[in-house]
This record gives sequence, structure tokens and C-alpha cells, in this order.
Amino acid sequence: MTPLPLIPKSKHGKFADSGVAVKRKRHPNPRLAKIHRNYTVEEVAGLYGVHRNTVREWVKRGLPTSDDRRPMLILGRDLVGYLQAQRTKNKRTCQPGEIYCVRCRAPKAPAGDMADYQPLTATLGNLIAICSDCETLMYRRVSLPKLKQIRGNLDITMPQALPHIGESAQTSVNSDFR
Ligand SMILES: [Zn+2]
Repeated sequence: MTPLPLIPKSKHGKFADSGVAVKRKRHPNPRLAKIHRNYTVEEVAGLYGVHRNTVREWVKRGLPTSDDRRPMLILGRDLVGYLQAQRTKNKRTCQPGEIYCVRCRAPKAPAGDMADYQPLTATLGNLIAICSDCETLMYRRVSLPKLKQIRGNLDITMPQALPHIGESAQTSVNSDFR
């Protein structure tokens, strides 16, 4: 067994020593994160040589985190997926009923048109579904008030603790999609 080659630090880990932030257009290399590791915001910032606020911005734009723990943890797999999606972001945006699949690199309809809603706050959450093409988990950050607009013909399973999202809420009781 040959060990995996180490990625040279000098290529990615440089910090400008002037206080002036140099705007780098190049996206960070997604592969720097280990997929089975959890990272704090500080660790992610250190790993990619970006500011902590940059990492927080990624989270705001949809990078999934563990919402139930402090400090907030980011799974390497999510990090890699998110950065790859950013890197290859194409101009197609998700239509109602679609979620961006990071493996297909395109908006995809979830398998069985089913998705789970996972609340993050009272008004914000993730739609989680399985890509109908490659079976990768897909995430779409949504605000609860906009859920009706983007749901398309999706059958969205709401958590039991969240009884109402409006008159068209379909609380699916027979879904074994977990
Ligand atoms: Zn896919």
C-alpha cells in the first residue's frame, strides 16, 4: 500500500503578511478536507487559508453544519461537496422541485420527488433529498416562507415538531425516506 501523496502546503497554505487582504479569485482546492473529519470554522479557515468570515459566508450560502453543537462543526464531506459545487457552479439555477446535485454538477429532481425538510432555525432549513440519477444526498437551503414557491411537485416530509407551513403543507406520514 502506498500512502496518499501529501499535498504541498506551500501551494495552498500561504498567508499574505501584509494586513491588506489580497482578493483571490481562485477557489480553494476542495480536496484539502478529509471527508470523515469534522472541522470547526477556525480549522476550515486554517486549512484553506481563508478568513473565518469567509467560512461563515460559505455556511450562509448553504454549506451544511451541525446545528446542534457548539462550536459549530462542518463535516469534511460537506465541505468538499460544497466547494466542488462552488467551483463548478454553472449558470443553471434550480427550478422549483429541483435541488443541486454536487456529483452531477447540475440541478436534479429528487428520487421519487421526495425531500425532507430539516429546520435550522424557526424560519430557515435544508431540503434534503436523494439525486434521482446518482443517489447522492442533495441539500438546498430554504427559508420556510419560500418553501411553497420552490417545492414544485415535491412531497416534503416535515419534522413532527413543525406542525404547519401553510394550507398546502403535506405532512407525509408514510414516508420511510430517511
Ligand atoms: Zn446526482
